Amino acid sequence: MATMRVAAPQVAPMMAAQISKPGADFEIVKRAIPEPGAGQVRIKVQACGVCHSDVLTKEGSWPGIQYPRVPGHEVAGIVDETGDGVSAWKKGQRVGVGWHGGQDNTCRECRRGDFRNCRNLKIPGISYDGGYQEYMIAPIEALVAMPETLSDAEAAPLLCAGITTYNALRHSGAFPGDLVAVQGIGGLGHLGIQFANKFGYKVAAIGRGSETAALAKKLGASVYIDSKSVNAAEALQKLGGAKTILATAPSSKAMSELIDGLGPNGTLMVIGVAFDPIEAAPVQVISGSRRIQGWAAGTPADSEDTLNFAELTGVRPMIETYPLEKAGEAYARMISGKARFRVVLTM
Ligand SMILES: [Zn+2]
Ligand SMILES: [Zn+2]
Repeated sequence: MATMRVAAPQVAPMMAAQISKPGADFEIVKRAIPEPGAGQVRIKVQACGVCHSDVLTKEGSWPGIQYPRVPGHEVAGIVDETGDGVSAWKKGQRVGVGWHGGQDNTCRECRRGDFRNCRNLKIPGISYDGGYQEYMIAPIEALVAMPETLSDAEAAPLLCAGITTYNALRHSGAFPGDLVAVQGIGGLGHLGIQFANKFGYKVAAIGRGSETAALAKKLGASVYIDSKSVNAAEALQKLGGAKTILATAPSSKAMSELIDGLGPNGTLMVIGVAFDPIEAAPVQVISGSRRIQGWAAGTPADSEDTLNFAELTGVRPMIETYPLEKAGEAYARMISGKARFRVVLTM
């Protein structure tokens, strides 16, 4: 007997930029708009930053990624639908999602409240589809409330590059008035200089060549050190030695050369991702009790601190925007290192 078929409601597809296998180019595809499950929300994405860490998804260099995968962990948007059990987040609310895409709440670190170091941390665009699409699903543990006056495109990079520099600096042990050096004036560094200035540090920006000197000063550096023409470590010692050096440029060699620029109890705060070793002789860190420390992003609560501080003080990323359908071009621009300074997709 023939059964009557009721036509399924027409679900409008959405646009997504996905990677179908490691090393593949971006594909612009149509997908069904996803439904949020329990403890999740659907976000109508308004902007998503293009971060160098997206290379992990593009090239498959992070273990265990399931393809096809939509990258993107600098997401700004609006809650569009809520799943079961979600009460603290409302439809129409502006939210962000950064590197911290959710914790398991059960590992040793989570049980101690150290969610940032969750052993099973989820990362948007790696563990699940991220923000290179018109709608994404996120667990509520990943959500960041967005201040009113920040635009989506400006807020997006603050959820990764912004929080990383802000959080590393505020945990570095430097106090107002201390000499803080920011190595590298790029996607991370141009934010690091601004935050360091607003924290009340004396900021020394370290770049290669004289071209970025004027910009570094404009962003809030009181000193510019051209590491091409002078020994940057010696230059820092002439200023008394740095309490913190925020190392943002992904060059282990350049970082190694700066260790002698630290003052007593100074910290080399490493946030620029590189894979070759930083070299330090034990005597370099023993004398003056110096430290070399790494720092990774932070929790959604840390992101809210970052956004609120940016709103309060006027710290903003310098961005170049591309429409979602040009995700491949936007990614290539980011990889070229020529972008000034963060590339952002807008929907
Ligand atoms: Zn990132
Ligand atoms: Zn955990």
